[in-house]
Amino acid sequence: MALISPKKLQQAETAPRTVTVLGATGSIGRNTVDLLARNRERFQVVALTAGSNVKLLAEQARLLEPQLAIIGDPDKLGNLRDAMQGTAVEVMAGEVAVIEAASWPADIVVAGIVGAAGLRPTLAASRQGSIVAIANKECLVCAGDLVLAEVERSGAVLLPVDSEHNAIFQVFEAGNAAEVERLILTASGGPFRSWTLEQMASATPAQAVAHPNWDMGRKISVDSATMMNKGLELIEATYLFPVATEQIEVLVHPQSVVHSMVAYVDGSVIAQMGTPDMRTPIAYTLSWPERMAAPAKRLNLAEIGQLSFEEPDFMRFPALTLARATLTHGNGSTAILNSANEVAVAGFLDGQI
Ligand code: NAD
Ligand code: MG
Repeated sequence: MALISPKKLQQAETAPRTVTVLGATGSIGRNTVDLLARNRERFQVVALTAGSNVKLLAEQARLLEPQLAIIGDPDKLGNLRDAMQGTAVEVMAGEVAVIEAASWPADIVVAGIVGAAGLRPTLAASRQGSIVAIANKECLVCAGDLVLAEVERSGAVLLPVDSEHNAIFQVFEAGNAAEVERLILTASGGPFRSWTLEQMASATPAQAVAHPNWDMGRKISVDSATMMNKGLELIEATYLFPVATEQIEVLVHPQSVVHSMVAYVDGSVIAQMGTPDMRTPIAYTLSWPERMAAPAKRLNLAEIGQLSFEEPDFMRFPALTLARATLTHGNGSTAILNSANEVAVAGFLDGQI
């Protein structure tokens, strides 16, 4: 299924783009806020939402002056109201308010909530027919068909934020879908890339979230350690790009410089590269189809010296095989995989597993 519709591509733009950030206080959200703050003339912020971090949300709202600031935790409405006193920002709280914020008209909604909790807000964003810059991969994994149906119905455009999918999207634009032979999703291999199964059995949450290259939220960091993240990304790719599951490969690349590749029928393989900084793919979605300046450290290949690649170890990282298997079992299985993983990761981070 190809779901990147070019519908909005031709829109002439003169006014600043209006943007809503769902999950503004998270890792994706903070990177997005940083870009918005550096480009105040280019963007006008409609809404910022967060789960429970009132202090950071209020700081971000004072900086970006959105129309709305919403906190998911309904008990924190008073705190947010106090923190926003003296500003023109309207405040709301609760799950329904987050969904409502997502459905307010905006040119771009950045879907940066983690986990299946992001599904309803992302669906609401898809329904209002804007560009949905999707970081929240779990909502595609558990209900990709639903999200795509809403996107198609409303004429919204789905742009991938996930660095691998953003890389493929950038390269895909250079060619023709019918000429694509394979997608090669690169994976850093995470902090346990060279650990034995025995060592992994006693891994602690602190070790699991210490990603060698990327600074991310705790859940995705654990997913990277088990390589379930790459499994989820494999499923994510099947919804974003018009290729069969068998055409998508995973390749371990510990330096995280090549963010992914597309192999074409003539033998050409085109890669997108950069230092590991999410502001680069996020900037591409915010300014698409143009590019805008982003402050990521510049890639210096001479300094890095060598790039290496290896096959994934399916014995030590069974999540990859499991994720691929769910794709042959239909949409329900990917949702079950995602739910089981969310519960297991939360249990692990909580010290229960
Ligand atoms: P995070 O934990 O750092 O942030 C999550 C955000 O969602 C926070 O703002 C939090 O307040 C909000 N949130 C959580 N539960 C909520 C709820 N029930 N209601 C409302 N808001 C809620 O996570 P992250 O690392 O920024 O990841 C966000 C998404 O982006 C994930 O799906 C992840 O897989 C994906 N992603 C992240 C990165 C990265 O670099 N962090 C890279 C690629 C993809
Ligand atoms: Mg990724």
